[in-house]
Amino acid sequence: MSSSGHATGLPAHNWAGNTVFTATGVRRPASVEELQHIVASSRRVRALGSGHSFNRVADTAGELVRLDALPPLVEIDEAASAVTVGAGMRYGEVATVLHESGHALANLASLPHISVAGCCATATHGSGDAEQCLAAAVTSLELVGPDGELTTLSRESDPERFPGAVVALGALGIVTRLTLRVEPDFEVSQHVYTGVPLTEVADRFDEIFGCAYSVSAFTDYLGDARVWLKRRTAERPGTRARTRWEGVTPAGAAHHPIPGIPATHCTRQLGVPGPWHERLPHFRPDFTPSNGDEVQSELLLPRASAAEALEALRALGQRIAPVLQISEIRTVAADDLWLSPFFQRDCVAFHFTWVKDQDAVLPVIAALEERLLPLGARPHWGKLTAMEPESVAALYRRAGDFRELVREHDPDGVFANPFVDRAFALR
Ligand SMILES: Cc1cc2nc3c(=O)[nH]c(=O)nc-3n(C[C@H](O)[C@H](O)[C@H](O)COP(=O)(O)OP(=O)(O)OC[C@H]3O[C@@H](n4cnc5c(N)ncnc54)[C@H](O)[C@@H]3O)c2cc1C
Repeated sequence: MSSSGHATGLPAHNWAGNTVFTATGVRRPASVEELQHIVASSRRVRALGSGHSFNRVADTAGELVRLDALPPLVEIDEAASAVTVGAGMRYGEVATVLHESGHALANLASLPHISVAGCCATATHGSGDAEQCLAAAVTSLELVGPDGELTTLSRESDPERFPGAVVALGALGIVTRLTLRVEPDFEVSQHVYTGVPLTEVADRFDEIFGCAYSVSAFTDYLGDARVWLKRRTAERPGTRARTRWEGVTPAGAAHHPIPGIPATHCTRQLGVPGPWHERLPHFRPDFTPSNGDEVQSELLLPRASAAEALEALRALGQRIAPVLQISEIRTVAADDLWLSPFFQRDCVAFHFTWVKDQDAVLPVIAALEERLLPLGARPHWGKLTAMEPESVAALYRRAGDFRELVREHDPDGVFANPFVDRAFALR
């Protein structure tokens, strides 16, 4: 990606390298004023976060703008239990400062390398029966609108429409800062349990996923599962009692989610307690997360469909196996964000890390979407899907309201791109 303050003219690509953007270049303003000027003088422009999405959600026919050259901002408001952060900052950077001052975010995704604004724009999530996606922590945001003016939107001042503006796929403007709810710093220990039969994951789903703060099960749908339990050393006050999952023994060695890759890339396991931000992500900030040589897809389903979906995936196991590196099962709590796949429903998430061969992978994604869509599946906004954008948007009850919100904020489509235009029939 670009390294200069001016447009490079070089084609930019995403982290996985499976998407070369059509953008004419990438700008990296050093100040919000410079950003405002870029937007005000552009016919088409769009924010690029850390570029970790696997599809064209971030693309534009104009220039992309990255915010990683803006001065870092992590401003804690003790009284409000909130932090205001620079939109282009990565979760790992924000988390370190929060931890040093005795604060924490409720949850994190599998890696700390991703930008705050980019994650919130696509409803990125971690795992935990009671934990919502990362965007649900946002209480206000500041963005540069199509005329270059700064606007602040907040849940408090506009509770009706704010839930439409957080998971917004970059369509409302370039977010410059976000305010997130924080809680007191906490510690987590993680253990991995190997050799868990998939039938047990299905039959004892509530027990397994309810027995720790954050739970992930990794499998290829042919063999057993390996279950990551991330436990808080002290529960958040008011938390309901955890379930018990009996008869299992933790692994005696550290594991990488993808078999065969050394666990040096992973956050500390074997039950050693550590700060929340060094345990909740699977991957350490100083190493390549996951495999690096991959593409991903993910389907989010109502939690009540977990056992049926698992059965369907087991039936597709032989079809999936040749192109799969690993699949991860997580749970995510409901929220009220219009474009969140978790909108008003507790979910089970089926994530797939595939080999980096999109032509071979897409037909398999299509096959599993065909089986899981009738169970209420919605694809992750930042990952691959075999569905057309308009079919994805049709899965959201508030899609029409979102279309109106975009038309109001950006009537001339300065932040438009084909992905969002098609999804919401904007142009
Ligand atoms: C190795 C790996 C692991 C992953 N693990 C998880 C996981 O655990 N859970 C999960 O849910 N997802 C996961 N993802 C997916 C990832 O979290 C999403 O794709 C997320 O959007 C990436 O954030 P980003 O900053 O790279 O966004 P980008 O891909 O750069 O952009 C995504 C969207 O955000 C918009 N955007 C970015 N910055 C701004 C801004 N300042 N203002 C307005 N809009 C903006 C863009 O325009 C675009 O529409 C993973 C991806 C990878 C590569």
